[in-house]
Amino acid sequence: MNVLLIGSGGREHALAWALSASPLLTKLYAAPGNAGIAELATCVALDVADHDAVKRFIADLGIGFVVIGPEAPLVAGLGDALAAAGVKHFGPSQAAAQLEGSKGFTKDLCREAGIPTGAYGRFKDAASAKAYLAEQPVPIVVKADGLAAGKGVVVAATRAEAEAAVDACFSGAFGAAGAEVVIEAFLAGEEASFFALCDGTHALALVTAQDHKRVGDDDTGPNTGGMGAYSPAPVMTPELVQRTMDEIIRPTVAAMAARGTPFKGVLFAGLMITDGGPQLIEYNVRFGDPETQVLMMRLQSDLLAAMIATADGVLDHFDLRWRDDAALTVVLAAKGYPGTPEKGTEIRGLDAARALAGVQVFHAGTKRDGERILADGGRVLNVTALGATVAEAQARAYQAIAKIDWPGGFWRHDIGWRAVLRETAKG
Ligand code: AMP
Repeated sequence: MNVLLIGSGGREHALAWALSASPLLTKLYAAPGNAGIAELATCVALDVADHDAVKRFIADLGIGFVVIGPEAPLVAGLGDALAAAGVKHFGPSQAAAQLEGSKGFTKDLCREAGIPTGAYGRFKDAASAKAYLAEQPVPIVVKADGLAAGKGVVVAATRAEAEAAVDACFSGAFGAAGAEVVIEAFLAGEEASFFALCDGTHALALVTAQDHKRVGDDDTGPNTGGMGAYSPAPVMTPELVQRTMDEIIRPTVAAMAARGTPFKGVLFAGLMITDGGPQLIEYNVRFGDPETQVLMMRLQSDLLAAMIATADGVLDHFDLRWRDDAALTVVLAAKGYPGTPEKGTEIRGLDAARALAGVQVFHAGTKRDGERILADGGRVLNVTALGATVAEAQARAYQAIAKIDWPGGFWRHDIGWRAVLRETAKG
């Protein structure tokens, strides 16, 4: 089967790596891909917003399955265009992608289905948003309703800060994504990322993972797309996994099916583990980046077969096998990230890093210039390692990073610290 993978990040490199191992795969194409993906797939320049062009490409190259990595094409309805053309694909319809495309949509669904999440209000103008704020305790969370590339959320310590966030949204800081604002109660606890394949009716949990959002060591500094991740996440005990499936994931799948907009793809729940149990912070309708990098390192089953089973609605007959090993990934970012990253600096030593046993170096924002690999984005590389424990995977990932010569980059030095502390405490 010829497969087309859409996307260009570290997530897509990890997916490409796992798809490449599938006995079902004949040839892998990626649009647009990156310098790392190019070692596994034929990268093509395709405007994925032009659905007719994508359909023509699929017909011309005999593509049998399409994997949609990022959220933007899903929210823009690429899944629907493929379905209408009879093309099998992995990723939800536009209506089901509302779970990520509109935070207000998801909050309303949670309210209807009794899914645990923070109390909230939805607002279309600043005056009513501020009237609601006046009645609420702080800290409080202000969110642009739509897709804002991870930048539309402000956890406000004071009411003045919350009001400023409301004004920023309505002044157009996030374009159309900020035309509506969701104000949400602050939830205290530890965050975890939870993934489940959903085929419209059934849900199959993946192993647990946790990421680090803040740019600096000790979880300080501004939020980013994610500076590292590890799996398993010890905070997610088997009991919490069960509760998350019973109280959050399955009710969501059932509610979406009941609305006539079944969810097919991977549901990525951002959870807050509170004293009272798991609460939903947000949904994403695609794999996480960088969580996917650690999940793919641990996955033993055929990813392509699992994705096809998801698309075919037969996940109830499907199971996934995982390595017992832990996996950990460290994001190497270009200096300046998450502000304006410096582009074009040269990266050396990648072959030495990936020659280490149990190590994969996934590319995120890179480009090839002859023999040279250059930085071409904010998050640039994901140095990923397996180990018997998170501590061992961590040590290996940092050994691999020590082989990389990239003066233009920086990274955190403490990825996985919570899990390592828990492992140490357990002895
Ligand atoms: P989101 O894009 O909705 O995942 O929000 C980005 C980040 O903001 C989350 O990963 C949390 O760290 C934080 N956050 C969002 N909503 C809440 C909430 N209700 N309580 C506490 N923190 C939150």
